[in-house]
Amino acid sequence: MRSIVYYVREFLRPEWLKKFFFVKTAPLVTPPYFKGYPTRTEKECTGCFTCMMICPAPDAIAVLRRKEQWEPEVYPGHCIRCGLCVEACPEGVLSSGRVLELAGRDATAFWHSYHLEVDESLCMRCGNCCVACPINRQIDPRLAATGTSTSDDVIMRVKGGRVQILHEEKCTGCKTCETQCPSGAMRVARMVEGVQFLDEVGS
Ligand code: SF4
Ligand code: SF4
Ligand code: SF4
Repeated sequence: MRSIVYYVREFLRPEWLKKFFFVKTAPLVTPPYFKGYPTRTEKECTGCFTCMMICPAPDAIAVLRRKEQWEPEVYPGHCIRCGLCVEACPEGVLSSGRVLELAGRDATAFWHSYHLEVDESLCMRCGNCCVACPINRQIDPRLAATGTSTSDDVIMRVKGGRVQILHEEKCTGCKTCETQCPSGAMRVARMVEGVQFLDEVGS
């Protein structure tokens, strides 16, 4: 009972009531570097998944198949508004006014590639990663179930008792190899580089 009286008395303090009812906060101003949540443009999504691959925030964007069309969906609760998906989409499907404004002014663009790494201490040389990789199978349809291949064009293969990475530049970053590896030895890392077109900036 005493604590209720205490709280009521505290709540009814005149200076507190004045602040509660009459103080106005300054209107919020969006800082110039702020990037909005990505939104859709009219361009058609081809389902390349680049936006999903480049997104650093878990579960912030998903490319879904709806009514025979691909549709990127941004989840605001997870999106950190970095704008990488907007920059990376080769089709211009996503937009965020401020990201594009900035990119236009500075003539910048993001470049990305993928880096594959096998932790030798965990790898069992089962070859699952090589077999699961859709690009590997496309390049060498005769790839053995053990991950060995006679083709030098594959992304990776099992050779000499280890996984050999030959062409990581062909990797699309789908991460199938990573999810299919039974021992967590395979890692697919996104490498993001900011590129500035000096000719356009200088002119
Ligand atoms: S990067 Fe662009 S084209 Fe590719 S899936 Fe995402 S929105 Fe679609
Ligand atoms: S990420 Fe996808 S394309 Fe790249 S090596 Fe792994 S399975 Fe192949
Ligand atoms: S799937 Fe994993 S354990 Fe098997 S060969 Fe590839 S990296 Fe090694």
